Amino acid sequence: MILILSLSAFLIVGLIYAFQTFYLDDFYQKHKLTEIIETGDYIAESIAADDDDDLERRIRERSMNNEVCVYVFSTDEDIATAGNQNMCALGMLRYDQTTEILKTTVENGGSYVFKDYRIGRGDQEKLYIYSRMVEDDEETSFVLVSAMITPLGATIATLHDQLWVIALIVLVITVLLGFISSYRFVSPIRKLQEEASRLPSGNYSGDVSSSSTEIMELNETLKQANEEIRKVDTARKELLSNVSHDLRTPLTMIVGYAEMMKDLKEENNEENLDVIITEAKRLNSLVDDLLDVSRIEGNRLVLQKEDVSLNEFLTDIYRQYEKYCEAQEIDFKLELAEDGIVSFDRKRISQVLYNFLNNALNYNDAENKIIRLSSEKEGKMYTVSVYDNGPGIKEKDLKNIWNRYYKVEEDHKRHHIGSGIGLSLARDLLELHGLEYGVDSVYGEYSRFWFRIPETQ
Ligand code: ADP
Repeated sequence: MILILSLSAFLIVGLIYAFQTFYLDDFYQKHKLTEIIETGDYIAESIAADDDDDLERRIRERSMNNEVCVYVFSTDEDIATAGNQNMCALGMLRYDQTTEILKTTVENGGSYVFKDYRIGRGDQEKLYIYSRMVEDDEETSFVLVSAMITPLGATIATLHDQLWVIALIVLVITVLLGFISSYRFVSPIRKLQEEASRLPSGNYSGDVSSSSTEIMELNETLKQANEEIRKVDTARKELLSNVSHDLRTPLTMIVGYAEMMKDLKEENNEENLDVIITEAKRLNSLVDDLLDVSRIEGNRLVLQKEDVSLNEFLTDIYRQYEKYCEAQEIDFKLELAEDGIVSFDRKRISQVLYNFLNNALNYNDAENKIIRLSSEKEGKMYTVSVYDNGPGIKEKDLKNIWNRYYKVEEDHKRHHIGSGIGLSLARDLLELHGLEYGVDSVYGEYSRFWFRIPETQ
């Protein structure tokens, strides 16, 4: 970092040095040349415009600003005396020199630049002279503008001396800047890098301090990522322990009942066999649900959508629960809107409704249990819902119950039906269909789980 900064600084100083050594003279001479030509043309235009009054003022102004010397020769008396400067080098031109200059100007079409002109034989100073002829009907005038070309050797040497001092100052500043930026950026970035290596294990401490906002923002982002990693890790551990627990419960029952039936001949009855079958089915459904979750997570679950008569579909589902509810003295009703065709994966939407219904049965401790499976139609949109008059769900739990293995406080109990992944799987399946879904509940009164589906025709 410091090296790069120093190198760039020296490159700049080097460039300035090279320009001063090789091009300063050229630049200076070109500049002087442009100056005298511009001044000459300007004065010539004033003369051509017959602007005698202003001529003197203009000549003075120009020669002062541009450090040039202006001389006018004219057959017009007024112009000839106007503005000719006392201290002007051109005033020292000998008669033959003036004649020569004017002649050359005429020969060259009315304007000419004399470079490196010396007025006296031993003169050190060289002049640039621009001569321009102005003609009108009666008079002919010549505007001569000169500038002294001072040798720049001494100036360049002074500049070089200064450049060494500048180079030294630049070096000190660069090193200082290098240290400051290293303190501001490099050290915190190193620390970030070191800390980031702990990200995979969720142990990023975020203990980085820097005055740079960007670095602190990056640190914040990494901290959030670390938090997410931790959450995922906790969820993974929880999932593993929940799944093991859920697998163990039915397995214990199956093994327990089977052993009891083997040991005690009088227990070898149909009722106990039913328990084994129910638990085995529960196990099966849990494994199925887990497989579905893994398919969805791996984007491997492909929906087999088909056109379905909504009322037929809901009636089918209702029938599967009707007998059970009758036996349990549950007031279970089917309330249907006018029928229509909808498009979905029959198996997957059945899974969603089984889950809603199982929960309505499981989480319902009311004396007179009421469950409703219903469809309502508004325009082209059906709302399918499962209502129960169970304990309802607290406001704070409402948005979380769709998360995998979310447990509502300590009174969470896993009942006979249901795999424990239910609502999160229902959510995934509904989202895969692109359907709107939700739950309305008043704690202590009711719950209503629903999804919306449009009629296809
Ligand atoms: P599980 O029922 O196996 O615990 P779910 O994902 O199906 O898993 O449900 C998540 C939680 O949502 C349940 O544990 C329960 O606390 C709550 N819940 C779901 N349905 C209802 C309902 N109809 N009434 C009250 N609480 C419910």
